[in-house]
Amino acid sequence: MGDIPSREAAIHMQTGRRLPITLVRGEGTRVYDDEGTEYLDFIAGIASDTLGHADPGLADVIAEQARTLIHISNIFYSVPQIELGEWLVEHSCLDRVFFANSGAEANEAAIKLARKWGIQNRDGAYEIISTTDSFHGRTMTTVAATGTPAYREPFGPPTPGFVFVPYNDMDALREATTAQTAAIMLEPIQGEGGVNVPDEDYLKTVRAWCDEQGILLILDEIQTGIGRTGTIWAYEQAGVEPDIMTSAKGIAGGVPLGAVLAKEHASIFEPGDHGSTFGGNPLATAAGAYVVRQLTEGGVLENAKARGEQLSQRLAGLVDRHPLAIGEDGGGLLRRLELAQDVSGDIVTKARENGLLLNPVRPNRVRFMPPLNVTAAEIDQAVDIVEAALTELESN
Ligand SMILES: *Cc1c(COP(=O)(O)O)cnc(C)c1O
Repeated sequence: MGDIPSREAAIHMQTGRRLPITLVRGEGTRVYDDEGTEYLDFIAGIASDTLGHADPGLADVIAEQARTLIHISNIFYSVPQIELGEWLVEHSCLDRVFFANSGAEANEAAIKLARKWGIQNRDGAYEIISTTDSFHGRTMTTVAATGTPAYREPFGPPTPGFVFVPYNDMDALREATTAQTAAIMLEPIQGEGGVNVPDEDYLKTVRAWCDEQGILLILDEIQTGIGRTGTIWAYEQAGVEPDIMTSAKGIAGGVPLGAVLAKEHASIFEPGDHGSTFGGNPLATAAGAYVVRQLTEGGVLENAKARGEQLSQRLAGLVDRHPLAIGEDGGGLLRRLELAQDVSGDIVTKARENGLLLNPVRPNRVRFMPPLNVTAAEIDQAVDIVEAALTELESN
């Protein structure tokens, strides 16, 4: 194979830093590099590998669908697309679905819906209030919606119509709402922003404010949905219902797929308004239909909830025993360990040397997002590796 990193450096656009590992296969929560080294994977394709790696059932469904029909475009009806769509509508408060290929594309569709809704129903209003530290994607309009200015600044004038307020700040949200506001767009727990869990009543108060003002609530559940936080959707735990919701990441277990869902009153796309060549093709939706059934019928959601509680308790134990660990938070199997110093990179490097892959989501925060079918023994093993890294750092 030659030296993969130098071959990559020679031809790839260098858009981000990669870890110095070339992964060649996986099984369950474990992945293996090109030298045969085994790692416990608590990154899981960035919270996307819902059933872990090389799940035999998912692999069979994909292989069978590939032998049957991979792609037909949306000019035709497709059985797997209907089956996944029905599951999503039956297992959410939303009424209609549109399939895309990624999270950013799903959010693009959500933003188009909200703008059209505002223009039609709120006297031309097209502004969307988003939050600082949010992440909604990397297309021109989704970076305009993302609360990290550095992601959009190199690219000239951003798509207009986005206003930012601090996450979890109701007063700022009230103040930012004007006659131009069409919608508020939020993650129920901010993922890329550092696994930020809002106050218990925040989403309820936002929902009430949206109702009072006659504006839409868009929830970006791309990272939090599909069982990641211990319920199918994170909004269930907050006791609110969005008007529009997006899903991607874990929805098809690592096969690229995104979806926007909306309540009937916000489902205002008409023929010609939106489309996608690949979005929701038979291969991706067959994979998605299998993954979501495993959640509800295969015990995966129950496991995610139980393992999430176990991980939370084990991380709280680290906080009790280690001065460097000062807090843990999150939902289900999307969790963070907060550190007293900016040493998340050191923790992650030491963990990797001991066979555990983790993400340093902030300089002082490590993010945990294993597959939802992770075992109790794997959770224990991962936390033991993190504890060893903490002990080592504290002794220096
Ligand atoms: C990952 C993510 C996105 C973007 O998804 P892509 O598939 O990378 O385009 C959008 N919103 C949230 C909350 C995400 O975590």
